[in-house]
Formats: sequence, C-alpha cells, structure tokens
Amino acid sequence: MKFHILYICTILICNSPIYAQGVVIQSSGPVYYSWADYDDWYYKKSATYKGWKYIVLHHSATQVGSVSAFHSFHFKQGYGGIAYHFVIGNGNGMKDGEVQETFRWEQQMSGTHVSVNSWEHNVFGIGICLVGNLENSAPTKAQTKALKKLLSRLKKKYSIKNKNIFGHKHVEHDDASGRREKTVCPGKKLDFKTLKPLDTTTYYSPLLID
Ligand SMILES: [Zn+2]
Repeated sequence: MKFHILYICTILICNSPIYAQGVVIQSSGPVYYSWADYDDWYYKKSATYKGWKYIVLHHSATQVGSVSAFHSFHFKQGYGGIAYHFVIGNGNGMKDGEVQETFRWEQQMSGTHVSVNSWEHNVFGIGICLVGNLENSAPTKAQTKALKKLLSRLKKKYSIKNKNIFGHKHVEHDDASGRREKTVCPGKKLDFKTLKPLDTTTYYSPLLID
C-alpha cells in the first residue's frame, strides 16, 4: 500500500507544472493592466506597482526655468503641478547644475511628463527635465555632470535597465502601434552618447539612434 501512495505522488510531481516542485516561473508574456487600478498606481499605493522602470529625459525648451516656474505653468495647464520628478538648472532661474526634486518625487507619485497615450511611462517613468532649449544649444557642463550622477544613482537604486532610459521623443504609445508623440524633446543637442556614466556602464541605448 505504501508503495502505491509513493508511486502516485511521484507521478503527480512529474506530471505537474514546474512550480509544483518549488520553482517560481517568471511570466515572460505581456502584462495586462486594468484601468480600475490606475488611481492606485498613480499615487503609488499599490505594492505590486510601486517600482520605477523608466527614466525619461526632457528639456524645458525655454532659456530660463525653475521648479516653481514649471510648477505654476503646469498647474495652470491642469497637470496638478509640475509634470517632472527632477529638474536640473542651467544658471537661469536655478543654479547651473543644481538638481531639485519636485513634489512628485517626494511623494513618489506618477509623472505627467509624456502623452496620456503613453501612460505606462508616466506611471513608471521618472521624468527629468533639463532647463534650456536643447534643440538649439547643448546642456551646460554642470548640467551634464549632474545628469550623469543622477542617472547613475537612480539606475543603481531601482535597477533600471539601460534600454529603459531615453528621451521624451523616443517614448512610444502604449497601444503597440509604434507611434510616438510629435515632439523634439529633449532636443537634438542632448547627445545620449555623452551620457556615458561615471562607472563606465553605458546609458546610451542603441535603440535610440535617430
Ligand atoms: Zn518632454
């Protein structure tokens, strides 16, 4: 009788999915989200979706700028305040190379820095804005240095993959159409190749070559 029980158990284990043997399987398929959960994610209430997956780089497209100036501008536009998580000053409105966290970062809230059609990048994307019009002129040396440092820190802390660090213009819509927002942000003078971080790992994604 004992033999039969053992035999049956062995058959069950051998024929069960691999998780029955204590191995956790990570799904490699697409993750489906429900709109009902959006609020929880937006305010990062959900333990499951608390993390940060992307870093999206922006420029202000203005010569002058600061957290407070963008905050009131975006507030008037109905974004509930500044769209980004970090702003890096250029000496006009904020110190050159100064990094300031916004209320979104302090409260670990979602951003409103890309199109609503790319909501995953708002919910899970850290928005960093460099003050300046980087379509016309490169960021200052101090800004580039500060950006590299910030990227290095965020990447390490949240295990963000290199391919998930890109510019606003590279963000694709979430409908898998491959469509992107019509924007030049963060400007062609922000050279992703120069964002080679201090620790020699590259932050430049080969997918982002224009
Ligand atoms: Zn932008």
